Amino acid sequence: MTTEAGLTARVEHYRERFATFLTVEVGPVEEELARRDAGTPDNPHLDEAGRMHPAVWEARREVQRRSAKAGLYSPHVGEASGGGGFSRAEMQHVEEFVYHRSGLGLGLAALGWTEGANAAIEHCSSAAREHWLDPLVAGEITAAFANTEISVGTDVLAMETHAHRDVAGRSDSDWVLNGAKAWITNAHFADVLQVTAVTEPGAGTRSLTMFLVDADAPGVTRGRDIPTMLNDGLTGELHFDDVRIPAEDVVGEPGDGFSLAMAWINWRRMCRGGMCAGWGAWLLERAVNRARVRTSGGKPIAELQAVQHLLADMDADVYAARAASLHAQVELDALPGGAYGMPLAPEAPRLMSLIKVVNDEAFFRVADRAVQVHGGTGLRSGSPEEKLFRLARNLKIPAGTVEIQRNAIARGLLRR
Ligand SMILES: Cc1cc2nc3c(=O)[nH]c(=O)nc-3n(C[C@H](O)[C@H](O)[C@H](O)COP(=O)(O)OP(=O)(O)OC[C@H]3O[C@@H](n4cnc5c(N)ncnc54)[C@H](O)[C@@H]3O)c2cc1C
Repeated sequence: MTTEAGLTARVEHYRERFATFLTVEVGPVEEELARRDAGTPDNPHLDEAGRMHPAVWEARREVQRRSAKAGLYSPHVGEASGGGGFSRAEMQHVEEFVYHRSGLGLGLAALGWTEGANAAIEHCSSAAREHWLDPLVAGEITAAFANTEISVGTDVLAMETHAHRDVAGRSDSDWVLNGAKAWITNAHFADVLQVTAVTEPGAGTRSLTMFLVDADAPGVTRGRDIPTMLNDGLTGELHFDDVRIPAEDVVGEPGDGFSLAMAWINWRRMCRGGMCAGWGAWLLERAVNRARVRTSGGKPIAELQAVQHLLADMDADVYAARAASLHAQVELDALPGGAYGMPLAPEAPRLMSLIKVVNDEAFFRVADRAVQVHGGTGLRSGSPEEKLFRLARNLKIPAGTVEIQRNAIARGLLRR
């Protein structure tokens, strides 16, 4: 019997197929990777430029291609674009399952993330659909979302990257792009770049346009790697020097860039619900198992109330964040236009920011306690607890800091 919102028959079916896929398709790729001297999916070796080792990247790509072929890669993308058309509540269950079952393994690559298709790209032209969107959904190419700049993160509308119509070019409807982006996930490897740029200075939330930029186009340069505490060699810079962009690669209409960027960012905010529920449950299981076998004074540490309280607090955080997220995603699905409407329903930003801040902060506490239960072992470089603690700290910044989520929640409350 279905007891939870969003736990539909097609979610059950997805989960069954994903479990098989992990064993039959991901397992052999993981075994092959383990034979290489390239590191692991969560702690890859880096090349001399600081980028993810090519063998790890290729293993991820292989999983993405296999997943797309199995119809598991893009459940979050609309059916008209070749995806599964799952609601946000359904996606929370899918994401939770994928994160719980995959842990920190290659299975995580099987679900389209930054590298795959997303709701913003779905607003592209029919020519761009054929050129970019279809291959993204099929796992044949990868994407990056290029919004942040060296001097501009939170203050998106202050960005300096700009584009103008190419009046002297082949067609006066084409565009020319100049500027630079920083902190971009998948900057080193992406085939297509979702770039936001100023096209109408001073027009506020209508001042930006989103472009799909061929990463191999003349004038595009991949810049240096920006090493972060994730140590995955995936974050970097991009430079644009008189890059010509055909009019068909404008996403939506000129001036839609801010709303489209927010659609991408909001997607990442909502994904926190399933991600933190899945990884949180995984960390909790590992902590319970560790407490049962690790002894102190001749007894398992699980018998110590101090350790029991750590476990209980982890459980309380995972349970509360998961329940709040599912509830908010059900509410978002029910809004006019749903979670990705353009324009977005006025109630939506508060709910999305609630999901992000609740999960970012709960998961940080969960990861911290997971380390504590494991003692020194939890601090060992490369252990799942150590890696997820660093990852949990990271989560509070990308896709809008936790302070910005509070701003959005307060705006939502005060506009009523
Ligand atoms: C690992 C990683 C991956 C990333 N991937 C991408 C990506 O793929 N694409 C992309 O475009 N960007 C990406 N980013 C950039 C990320 O989105 C920004 O770092 C984030 O939005 C914060 O911007 P900032 O770093 O410039 O911080 P700042 O904006 O400089 O903020 C600094 C501090 O000031 C606070 N602050 C600033 N303004 C306000 C305000 N108005 N009200 C309250 N507090 C405020 C912030 O909350 C924060 O505490 C990534 C970053 C990291 C670390």
